[in-house]
Amino acid sequence: MNIEMQSCGLLMMIILLVVIIREKSLDLGRRKKYFDTMLACTVCLAMDILSVIGITYASRGMIPSLVAFAVCKLYLVFLINVGYRGLIYTAGEFLKEKAYRKLRNIYRVIFIPGVILILVLPINYFCQGRVVYSYGPSTISTYSMAVILLVSTVLITLIKGKDTSKRRKRVIILWQVCWIVAAFIQFMRPELLVVSFAASFGIVLVYAELENPNEGIDRLTGQFNSSALHTYLNDRYSRGIPFSAMHVSIDYGAGEFDLELEQKAMRQIADFLDNDRKSYIFKESDRDFVAIYNDQNKMQSEYERASAEMKDSVGLPINVNYTLLPDSSIFENGDEFMQFQHYNVKNINSSDCTVAGKELAEEMRDYLRIRDQISWAIANDGVEVYYQPIYDVENDEFNTAEALMRIHDSEGNIVMPGRFIPIAEENGLIIPLGIEVFKQVCRFLSGGTLQKLGIRYIEVNLSMAQFNEKDPASFVQRIMDEYHIDPSWINLEITETADPITRQVVLKNMQTLIDRGVHFSLDDFGTGRSNFDYFVAMPISIVKFDYSMTHWYCDSAKARDVIESIVGMLNRMDLPIVMEGVETKEELDTMIGLGAAYIQGFYFSKPLPEEEFISFLKERQS
Ligand code: C2E
Ligand code: CA
Ligand code: CA
Repeated sequence: MNIEMQSCGLLMMIILLVVIIREKSLDLGRRKKYFDTMLACTVCLAMDILSVIGITYASRGMIPSLVAFAVCKLYLVFLINVGYRGLIYTAGEFLKEKAYRKLRNIYRVIFIPGVILILVLPINYFCQGRVVYSYGPSTISTYSMAVILLVSTVLITLIKGKDTSKRRKRVIILWQVCWIVAAFIQFMRPELLVVSFAASFGIVLVYAELENPNEGIDRLTGQFNSSALHTYLNDRYSRGIPFSAMHVSIDYGAGEFDLELEQKAMRQIADFLDNDRKSYIFKESDRDFVAIYNDQNKMQSEYERASAEMKDSVGLPINVNYTLLPDSSIFENGDEFMQFQHYNVKNINSSDCTVAGKELAEEMRDYLRIRDQISWAIANDGVEVYYQPIYDVENDEFNTAEALMRIHDSEGNIVMPGRFIPIAEENGLIIPLGIEVFKQVCRFLSGGTLQKLGIRYIEVNLSMAQFNEKDPASFVQRIMDEYHIDPSWINLEITETADPITRQVVLKNMQTLIDRGVHFSLDDFGTGRSNFDYFVAMPISIVKFDYSMTHWYCDSAKARDVIESIVGMLNRMDLPIVMEGVETKEELDTMIGLGAAYIQGFYFSKPLPEEEFISFLKERQS
């Protein structure tokens, strides 16, 4: 009997079925569609074999023709079912979830009447030696349906697959071509029954190229890798299936372990987390795991188990930080979820366990928005320097000013430093920002107008992050040289740092610049960021009292005593004081009475853009 090809195909499908059922894989929508196609193909091959047997026996009069007709029709129905499943798989690959659902509904409307037609229309069979086939209206309607499905699949791949990887497109086209060529061969040589074999061959090809889950497995731990996590998250979010997740971040602390020990620990942690078949464990990076659960209770109980027992199951003194995400829907998509993992590790890793809710998600979005605004401003000339005039009490004039940075976002709004400086300091963007500010100040000074209007120097803020670089003094010197700036026109404002090592670096850099003629002010005195020992140890020329000191002084008698003695001490050290945040005439008089050498505050002026600052100075001179 002519069933060799189909039997080979069936055997191939059964082997593949066993492999797929046994292997470790993610519960992805795509995977399910693939499995459905494969199952349909297996049944189709079985029906193909049965139909050949049926026709052969019926033509010898050994069974009633009706039985052979019935088996042939079932084979035809399962054949177009394979075509339909293939189309659904392809559509799922290349279309967005909404478009996919729409298309699936349209094809269901075509598919169901097609099946009814095949079942009700008459069918005949032919059997002579190895040439066995069915024909008649039922067969013609099958072929018509098959053509519609094949052409649709190829068109979807060509049109909608434009933006996806070439490899995916190529494999699916190859699968369809296998079918078309096989159908042509079978049409020309009816004794070669290759159509269903070609379908199964295509399915094996798709498995090897696209569905082989080993690509998503991390070799070290045997768990899923970060690329599988990406695929999984996109699948969950696009299908709108919520989940709970636990992010486990391993910190080896100060201990330096060799790679082998760390790898062993990672394997142990992976085994520990992989507690049941209902959750998925992903090794996200060398020190992070993400475990995904179907429900919140499961996540909670796994967290409790892990926090109580995991450290003991690993032979190293590790620290473990957990972030629990009870409800994945606080994020809009997989990308946000991933961004959160990185945001979280960097920013809130201080506590052992964080529960991520809507607020934290919003906080992250805010952080990312501002980070993007900073990057946008750096790339698009969106950094601007404002100048706040500083009043010299003794000479009754405005002879200095503080440079204060603003950035413009892509919509033209001004973002204030309170919003963006902490974020810029966290991710290093303060370095290019600081350089830009310093350049603008030097450019402004190099014009000479400021000096003509009585400005002696400009105060420029410097973050510790800028001063903790390998050679921070060099950018200051380079830009000053570029604009031919007299170093005495610059006064750098620094704040205190608690870390003694950083302090050493800062001191070294300060000295380099001081030797060149730059001066330093100690900023924010009185905020807890500045201590007495700081102005004793550091070579500073001016102390700037934070605006909170002005308010304390005016509001509390006790604070008044303390502040007066500090001012007395600074005067004895010959360190002039700048009082910041002076807003009223009353505060001004009080601060002058206290012995402030300089006054800075809204009472005189808010920080002003370059031109307005020039106008302010001109007005004061006239
Ligand atoms: P800061 O160095 O203490 O700067 C003084 C801040 O007080 C400025 O806020 C200024 O507008 C504000 N201010 C001045 N007078 C008054 C007043 O009378 N009342 C009140 N309520 N506030 C007053 P701004 O411009 O928002 O800057 C905030 C902080 O951002 C600065 O505090 C500084 O730490 C940082 N910053 C600003 N520009 C730069 C920069 O170029 N580089 C670095 N690293 N940090 C900067
Ligand atoms: Ca300042
Ligand atoms: Ca200040």
